[in-house]
Amino acid sequence: MKIKVENIPEEGLQLQFFEDGDWFRTLLPEKEKVNYLLHKVDVFLSVNKIGETVSLAVKIETAVDLECCRCLEVFTLPIKTEFKYTLVPIGKRIEEELELTSEDLSFGYYKNDLLELDPIIFEQILLPIPIKPLCNDLCKGLCPYCGVNLNEASCKCQTKVIDPRFAALKNVTVLKHK
Ligand SMILES: [Zn+2]
Ligand SMILES: [Zn+2]
Repeated sequence: MKIKVENIPEEGLQLQFFEDGDWFRTLLPEKEKVNYLLHKVDVFLSVNKIGETVSLAVKIETAVDLECCRCLEVFTLPIKTEFKYTLVPIGKRIEEELELTSEDLSFGYYKNDLLELDPIIFEQILLPIPIKPLCNDLCKGLCPYCGVNLNEASCKCQTKVIDPRFAALKNVTVLKHK
């Protein structure tokens, strides 16, 4: 999605569009491991221009399929995010008077009178995706011995592993009695 700055009217622009999930892959760096699948991305955009400074208010709604790093099951993480973005022509210094206090306010540049929205949207989609995704904070993961998904079933491996410790405790008790 690209917008020509000169085409932004005085009263601003309200746009709504969507991107196919495959669009996400084209933006990922070559070496980046693509182990997630992006659903359709809905974008709600409000664009305003004061002089050459363009401000964006963006709302993104999508979901991504991720593999849980503990149990390896695929789960869907919904992503809903809203942010504001200010763009100035490249080469022009961001004026001091622009408020830098708000945390959700980001700055960027545009060149050749053209706003490139895809990288901005893409960045905001990536932000909430955890490096180590978990289907659930309490995910029990896989049994390291038999590989069973411990969220769905139980196995007897754990008790077998604990056995030697019980044996050790027994010895301690015996020593005390002596
Ligand atoms: Zn899991
Ligand atoms: Zn097991």
